[in-house]
Amino acid sequence: MRACLKTHMHERHRLGSSKADSGYYTYWRDLLTTKITDPKLSNAFWKDGRVNHAERRTVMKYRLGVLSNNKLTQWLGYSVTPKCSVCPGDDSALHILSGCQHPTISKMITERHSKAGRLVAQAIAKGEYGANIVFTAIGSADKLAADAVTLPEEATNRTFPAWLLESLSEDSQTSCTRPDLILVTPSTTCPPAHDNATIPALIPARNRDIHLVEIKYCEETHGPRGSSSLSMPRHNTPN
Ligand SMILES: [Zn+2]
Repeated sequence: MRACLKTHMHERHRLGSSKADSGYYTYWRDLLTTKITDPKLSNAFWKDGRVNHAERRTVMKYRLGVLSNNKLTQWLGYSVTPKCSVCPGDDSALHILSGCQHPTISKMITERHSKAGRLVAQAIAKGEYGANIVFTAIGSADKLAADAVTLPEEATNRTFPAWLLESLSEDSQTSCTRPDLILVTPSTTCPPAHDNATIPALIPARNRDIHLVEIKYCEETHGPRGSSSLSMPRHNTPN
């Protein structure tokens, strides 16, 4: 039945010969079956007035694996190199979106990340845990202010609060990897018994729950910068 239907559809509508074992076919099918993405969030860009038509088109080209890049054009025979045109890295759709090391593009990628972080911080700051944000690494105090993100002052200087990691030396504190945002709340399993329970610095160390917020774009956890469940999985064909 399946083969007959395929033959029929192809003869009448030229639709029946699509490959059902390709990477992209699998990715799209898995999106439907695994439900790891939120369809509403993942497709919000269609209705967001801040996203223009060209940007929507780029998103769909990326999702469908047809965003032009030297890896793809070389594979198709239109380019002599798979290297990026503006940095020494290997070109790919992912390289364009989050891996290019060209100084200007690299700064744009970092700023995009920070901007998303400021949106998340802004949302948390407006909620009941706003006062529990103790650290952010999502841009300077000026940038936070420019985006109208109001946080407790100590959370805006990109430095760990002295009381948070007392056992770490100053050198270790500046050299260790840092999350985008840290919240300290009273422990849900061992709540403190005094009145200042909600002021992070006054919560005894043993009574703290520490929440780390890390924001990822595209496939950053696989790529040079480090996946958002909102994007497509890794590609095994030129992209
Ligand atoms: Zn590049």
